Amino acid sequence: MLTLTELKTLLATPQRIVITTHHKPDGDAMGSSLGLYGYLIQKGHHVKVITPTDYPTFLHWMPNNSDVIIFTEAQEKAAQLVDEASLIFCLDFNTLSRINELGELVRAAGAKKIMIDHHLEPEDFDDYRHWDINACAAAQLVYDFIVNQLQDGELINKDVASCLYTGIMTDSGSFRFSSATAEVYRIAANLIDLGADQSKIHELVYDNSSENRLRFLGYCLSNKLEVLRDYNTAIISVNKEELAQYHSITGDTEGVVNYALSINGIRLAALIVERTDKVKLSVRSTGDFPANEICKKYFNGGGHRNAAGGASEKPLADVVNEFKSILAEYKEQLIA
Ligand code: 5GP
Ligand code: MN
Repeated sequence: MLTLTELKTLLATPQRIVITTHHKPDGDAMGSSLGLYGYLIQKGHHVKVITPTDYPTFLHWMPNNSDVIIFTEAQEKAAQLVDEASLIFCLDFNTLSRINELGELVRAAGAKKIMIDHHLEPEDFDDYRHWDINACAAAQLVYDFIVNQLQDGELINKDVASCLYTGIMTDSGSFRFSSATAEVYRIAANLIDLGADQSKIHELVYDNSSENRLRFLGYCLSNKLEVLRDYNTAIISVNKEELAQYHSITGDTEGVVNYALSINGIRLAALIVERTDKVKLSVRSTGDFPANEICKKYFNGGGHRNAAGGASEKPLADVVNEFKSILAEYKEQLIA
């Protein structure tokens, strides 16, 4: 284990640093990673962000995005950087399985590992941990790490502020989830003061859909939405052919599940998608209903109480039926 003082001492001289985040990175994964990157390069460190997979185009505008290395597209280079790193920052995830094949490389690396995360049940692979499940975003914890732990708030420039703001905005549902506390609003206000253009960032992330993506959303809502009133649950399932028909690319299914949850009275919503290798579930809930419990117990996954995910090797129709059959167990909570 590293103490904060030891970590500060390490960071006082130039280090070889890798920042990594979970596969299929979202706004918080990229925002926290590129925010930390923008800070660390000002300190003279040699820094690389390595993502396990690609990520949505609506995140490509972020400052320093062109420096990101995608593991699946540059495995040898990524492996070498991990091997040579003295510090590895693990952002927005807490089990090495969340970074696919990169996980075993990180585990084997001699670098000190720093976890900055807000998910439940962290795995014990790190040397220093800034972990708080009450944080609305990993980006909020990166802000706290720079400002309060490293006391380097003056290095939060416009680029860093824009990235951290993006992470907080996306993971808090544009500041509407209960995790968006008054403190989160205060941090967001500071980031706006430091240069984050909140209106522009919202537009870049949310008003940046391709025509295909919007038509795909329309198709899901009119043809694929199944509302199970007996369980206050809504399900959207999509197969490979439907994804191909709408020329779906990474990020196109993001947010679709929220429309199912927005129906009045609905407490639980799932988007079940047949990917090339497996079936992926995105599950959302309201109030204290534990979406993560269902994902952990039945679909080899996990996440937050109101936003969780999992996967299955079974055929799509079987996964949908399995999901439906689980609902009886939770009926009381769903109709309460
Ligand atoms: P999404 O539905 O947006 O893919 O994921 C929502 C949240 O669920 C993520 O932030 C993550 O915490 C969690 N999650 C999604 N997929 C998995 C998974 O396969 N395993 C685990 N442990 N968590 C997941
Ligand atoms: Mn997050």
